[in-house]
This record gives sequence, structure tokens and C-alpha cells, in this order.
Amino acid sequence: MTTYKPDDRAGPPDGEEGHAQPTVGRPVAAPATGDLTAELLRTDIWTDEMVQAAGIPAVQVPLISVGGGIGSFVTVDYLRIAGVPTEHMRVLSNLDFPWQTYEYLTRVSQIPRGERIRSDSASRPDNIWGFPSYALAEAVRGRTLAPLRQVLVEPIWADYYTPKAAQVFAGLERESRRISYQQMLVRGQARMVRRRRGGGYFTILTPPGGTPARRVAYQSQFVHLAVGYPGLRFLPELQQFRTEQQDFQHVVSAYEDHEHVYDTARIKPVVVMLRGGGIVASRVLARLMDDREKYGLRTEIVHLFRTYVAGAHGPNAWNRRKGGEGFAYQGFNYPKSVWGGQLKSKMRKLEGDQRAAAYKLMGGTNTPKRRRWQEQMRQGREGGWYRTMAGTVDEMLLKDGRVVSMVKTAAGVSEITADFVIDCTGLEADISEHRVLADLLEHSGVARNPVGRLDVERTFELRGTASGTGVIYASGATTLGGYFPGVDTFLGLQIAAQEIADDLARRGFCRRIGPLRSTAQWLRWARGQEP
Ligand SMILES: Cc1cc2nc3c(=O)[nH]c(=O)nc-3n(C[C@H](O)[C@H](O)[C@H](O)COP(=O)(O)OP(=O)(O)OC[C@H]3O[C@@H](n4cnc5c(N)ncnc54)[C@H](O)[C@@H]3O)c2cc1C
Repeated sequence: MTTYKPDDRAGPPDGEEGHAQPTVGRPVAAPATGDLTAELLRTDIWTDEMVQAAGIPAVQVPLISVGGGIGSFVTVDYLRIAGVPTEHMRVLSNLDFPWQTYEYLTRVSQIPRGERIRSDSASRPDNIWGFPSYALAEAVRGRTLAPLRQVLVEPIWADYYTPKAAQVFAGLERESRRISYQQMLVRGQARMVRRRRGGGYFTILTPPGGTPARRVAYQSQFVHLAVGYPGLRFLPELQQFRTEQQDFQHVVSAYEDHEHVYDTARIKPVVVMLRGGGIVASRVLARLMDDREKYGLRTEIVHLFRTYVAGAHGPNAWNRRKGGEGFAYQGFNYPKSVWGGQLKSKMRKLEGDQRAAAYKLMGGTNTPKRRRWQEQMRQGREGGWYRTMAGTVDEMLLKDGRVVSMVKTAAGVSEITADFVIDCTGLEADISEHRVLADLLEHSGVARNPVGRLDVERTFELRGTASGTGVIYASGATTLGGYFPGVDTFLGLQIAAQEIADDLARRGFCRRIGPLRSTAQWLRWARGQEP
């Protein structure tokens, strides 16, 4: 069973792969066995001499992006389109390709390549213009008007159109080739970013095993952090169960491989308890219901909600979200106007508690209301094989190979016995659980925003980290709570990348993408030519 661990999951085993030697700049002469010294570890601002004395080879490159997932990809994509050559940027990552983590997480949480993802037709991380949209591309490729008809009548007469995961990956692969992404990628584990005396930063990379250098110091004027989710978080009682029982079969996270649950359901009738009310719970539920129908199974599902939504809810009659049978319904994880409408401009003006309150109001767990899922759940309720409950779990026990959960409800404590429990409650670990971010919090003046994550400016500059003319930017889930709420989405990562590219253009690092450049670059994109 594989478990999502962003900090160490994707690196190859020691000795399996050679170090991708950085090609930019000239390493400063130093013995190749250098490691972090006690002096480096305790000093907030490093000098070139300190790094040299430690024997850590240094490489100079103007911009470093740490992460190498979709956030890094869309940022270097923007910058390539803004005229930055590959030699001026390096992406430090433990991934082989940018959609690797996304593909892993979507696959295990029941969105394999052939299924449709959550975001809409114009959210194209491989295309900064969003044109042609996924729906148009699918219509042309499949010679069918159906996707176009759907976007025309969504969401009233049809569900929102969303692309298949395979289409997203194919586009990313093409764009990755077009911008020569692999030339910028350096494999390894980033350990820390420290300010450099005289300006800029040192980013320490631990290259994969079997390479001469233990560490490499990347000296750059700009750093971009897009490290994704800091870590996988289980509900405390689930964590306790797994630790005490050393059982990783009966209680699983939707974000880890749990195919054995569906396999077992095909061999014998099982009871599955689901925890959570978001899109991942919907997807897992859909898989159980699809398999039930497809293979004539007798799977029973008990769905436990901590916050049970009984109907439409909101502060007033004009500001309400649909809900029912436990779920809060919303097409996308935030109202659409956060990406470019009135909520985007309102949020840019809010500070402190007011911003935190606004996040609370429009965020929260929600899922799209898809017609097929509604029909399947209705059949399940009528057939008595799908039931929902509101409550929390105090204790979980393993009895005769089954999991017994003590569920505290408004009516008292109920004992629910299930063959499997699938936790679909999320990935929300604290930012301090990520080693690079913890180091920044301790040594580089980084503060937390009103919801406890990295505090970024409207330009996505990490507040308090300026170093001479150097700037650290951050985007993605670690910056949720900032002036722009949709940041952990494809479109949100692109909007952040655009802000970063504009800021870098003001600082003279790249060209501004004005109307002429944009048009010329779109034509290059359409022809598959490098930027
Ligand atoms: C199941 C699921 C479905 C989603 N569906 C959608 C959707 O349909 N539409 C949408 O718009 N958004 C969606 N999202 C949200 C978001 O767009 C994706 O999660 C996206 O992949 C985030 O990109 P990222 O670069 O921030 O993180 P990632 O893609 O995870 O990339 C960051 C990567 O950085 C690497 N890393 C971390 N620390 C280090 C280090 N120290 N050194 C080297 N490398 C490091 C890790 O490999 C990590 O995975 C979904 C999220 C999930 C979990």
C-alpha cells in the first residue's frame, strides 16, 4: 500500500538514479562531499564563504522553483512565454513530471484517467489563454457537439462540463515538451531556503543517492515555492486505530491506494463506512455505487458526516448554498467569482479577521451536485443499502476482522460495524510539517496569514523574506488564506503565476505579456512551437 508523503514519497531509492547535474553557471570550487554544518544550520543569513567552507558546491541561476508540481509548471510556463530562457530557471523537484502527484492523488481517490475531474472547461494548466477550452478541444477531436451543448446550458440544464483527466495530462505533456520543461528540471529533495548576505538566496538541494555531492547550493535572486500539500492528515481516531492496531487494511485514506476495498467487495458482500462530505467522498461513493450496479454486488454503505447539511444554507436569502442529505453543494470548491469576479476584488481588500471570516463563509467542505450521483444515492436510500448519519467517532475497535466505530450522534452512541472505513476528510496538514516551510518560519521572517498558512502579498511575494533585490514567491495550498482564495486550483495557480510574472517583469527579469506578445505567443502555442 502506498501512502502520500510529499516530502519523501517520489524520490528514487538511493543509488538508483544519477544526479541530474545542474547545467547553469559554474560550480564554485569546493570538495564534492560537503554537507550542512552546525554554523549553516543556526545562521539565518549565509555568506558565500560559509557555503564554500562547508564544501557545498554552489550553482548560480536567476530563478529557482521548488516543488515541480502543477504550481511550478504553470509558473515557469508563464515565464517562458514572457521570454525567459530555460538557462535562467531551474525547478527543484522529487517528481519526474509535473502532474505526477496530481495523477497519483486523483487516481487513488477514484478519478482515473478516463474519469472527469472537478474544474471547468477553461481551466487549462497547459494553456494560459484557456482557449481553445477543453470542451471545444474534445468536440473537435471527438467530432461531436455534445461538449459544446453542455457548456452552453450548464449548470441549469446540465451538470458543469469538466474534462477527463487523460485530456488534462495529454495537454500538460505537450506543453511540457514545448517549453523544454525537462531542461529546467533538477531531481532531488529541497531541504531549505536561506537568505544570502548581499542579496538573493541559497536553496539547498539533496540530490538523489549515488551522486558525488551530498548537497548542492542553488544561489538565485528569485525563489518560487510550490510544494503542494504539506502532508497527509488523518482524523485523530483513525490515526490512533492504525497506530495501535498496526492495521492498514481496514481503515484507509482515500488519498492512498485502497483498491483492495473494491476488490473485496467483488468477492463477498461488505459494509463500507465513508467519512467526509467533499468531492473525494462523492467520488469514492460513486465508485462503490458504480461497482454495485456493474457487477451486481451487495455492498452496503454507511456515510458518516461530521457536519450534516440538511438543506440550503447561508447568512441570508441572497447568499445561500444548496445542500441536502448531508452534502453542501457547489460546482467548484469556491463560488466562481473568486477567480475573476466580485469576490476576487472583495477579497483583495480584506485583512485579518475579516478575511478569515470571509473564507469561512464561502469555503468549507462541498461537492458538485451531479445528476448521476443523485440518482444512484436515491436508489441506495430506497433499497436500504445507502444510509447517512451525522456524528463523530469516539473510538474504533477491531473485532473479528471488522471495524467497530462508536458513533456519537444527537440521539446517543451507536455502534457501527463495517468491513472497511474510508477516510475522505482531506489533506490538511499544518505548514510547519513541511521541512522547507518549517525552516523558513524559523529562519527567514515568514509569518502566517489569517488562516495560519504562508502570508503572501497580492503579488504572491512571501512577506518578510526580501533579501536585497531578491524575492521569494509562493503559490498553491500553502498560501490559502491570502488575498486570492482560489489558489489551490489550476486556474488559481495560473492567476498566481500571472501575478508573479507581472511582478518579475516590473523587476526586469522578464518581458510583460501585453496584447501583442500574448497574441504572437498564442499562435506559437497553437502551432506547437517553442515560446
Ligand atoms: C484529489 C485532488 C483532485 C483535484 N482536482 C482538481 C481539479 O479538478 N481542478 C483543479 O483546478 N484543482 C484540483 N485539485 C487541486 C490542485 O489543482 C492540485 O492539487 C494541484 O496538483 C496543486 O499543484 P501544486 O503544484 O500546488 O502541488 P503538487 O502538484 O502536489 O506539486 C507539489 C510537489 O512538490 C514536491 N515537493 C514538495 N516538497 C518538496 C521538496 N522539499 N523538494 C522537492 N520537491 C518537493 C512534491 O512532490 C509535491 O507533490 C485537486 C487536488 C486533489 C488532491
